[in-house]
Amino acid sequence: MSSRIIRADFPALAQLIHGQPLVYLDNAATTQKPRSVLDAMQRYYLEDNANVHRAAHTLAARATDAMESARARVAGLISSPAADQIVFTRGTTESINMVASGLSHRLHSRDRILVTALEHHSNFVPWQQCALRTGAHLDVVTVTPGGEIDLDDFRNKLCQETRIVAFAHVSNALGTVHPVHELVTTVRARSDALVLVDGAQAILHLPVDVQALDVDFYAFSGHKLFGPTGTGVLYGKRAGLEMLRPSQFGGEMIEHVTLDSSTFNTLPYRFEAGTPNIAGAVGLGAAVDYITGLERDSLLRQEESLIDDTICALTAMNGIRLIGTPTQRLGVVSFLVEGSSPHDVGTLLDQQGIAVRTGHHCAMPLMQSLGIGGTVRASFSLYNDQTDVERFVQAMHKTLTFL
Ligand code: PMP
Repeated sequence: MSSRIIRADFPALAQLIHGQPLVYLDNAATTQKPRSVLDAMQRYYLEDNANVHRAAHTLAARATDAMESARARVAGLISSPAADQIVFTRGTTESINMVASGLSHRLHSRDRILVTALEHHSNFVPWQQCALRTGAHLDVVTVTPGGEIDLDDFRNKLCQETRIVAFAHVSNALGTVHPVHELVTTVRARSDALVLVDGAQAILHLPVDVQALDVDFYAFSGHKLFGPTGTGVLYGKRAGLEMLRPSQFGGEMIEHVTLDSSTFNTLPYRFEAGTPNIAGAVGLGAAVDYITGLERDSLLRQEESLIDDTICALTAMNGIRLIGTPTQRLGVVSFLVEGSSPHDVGTLLDQQGIAVRTGHHCAMPLMQSLGIGGTVRASFSLYNDQTDVERFVQAMHKTLTFL
């Protein structure tokens, strides 16, 4: 199976931007959607639309089945032991906030939270806020000049008082793949801390098995794996999820209410207050079906070779500085053009039909560690092909002549 074939499944890729065929290299921000996802959502609204769970009629039963079958497929994608350990959220950000605020009642001033300087703000600021709220201490693992977690610093900062360790599976800014299993093993050997992994950038590019990784929580967004925006997942070990206090109340999360007090529903509904994003869950389920129907291994190998070619071509250009040289990288190439702002480079590329992202990529602590303000980031997905790389490289040559 080649990326050229699956490309045809994504209608948005077949368009002209400023008169040139679109080359979409902003996949770390969000991926385009295959027709099967769009069709599933439209069919849901055309035929099955109803509120879930609380009605006896046929449409409500169909909507409930559609949502719960999506949950079961998501559980299958990440090898969750059970579907009720999959909480539907609005995205990675909400999933992480749910854990950070849901655990606050267990943290005290002698406790410590360990994160890394490489995190997306969505896996940094919720912990910073949690520390401010609870008085716990926030320890931040430093990053090597090549853009990897400093493993010695990780080991040094991890201690008996560490209650939570949170880090990304793959960095959105540099593409660094973190050795999740090794890090989890280190945590287990030295503390009782819970481990949360931000899987936003990994979920499409790696087979994820939450049981093999032995993580307590795994968070990701639907829109990064060909699903709709406003969908996401929080996986948790049962014991971890049961420790969390809900922070939103009402709707299906309720079990019983009296004038004085309330009790809450079982997992996962306890964390899904209000009418959920049913159509979104349907779209996410269709995205999971789409991905599992692909020969993902061979597409990932093609994606890796496109990234190697891109790095090779950029290295051969004068005035380009690659940012991050991780030993294991996925999906992302970040760089700077000496003497030019990333924004100017991005704008010149856009005029040639190339979509890249520029700036700090919601990772300001990382940019501060590296002593830069931002980068130009080209990020790949399974539908990118050799033509995209050739067009990007040509456009970069032209851009350099303008700057
Ligand atoms: N973490 C990482 C590593 C990400 O790349 C992103 C999205 N760029 C997020 C968290 C936040 O995801 P979302 O905006 O979908 O909640």
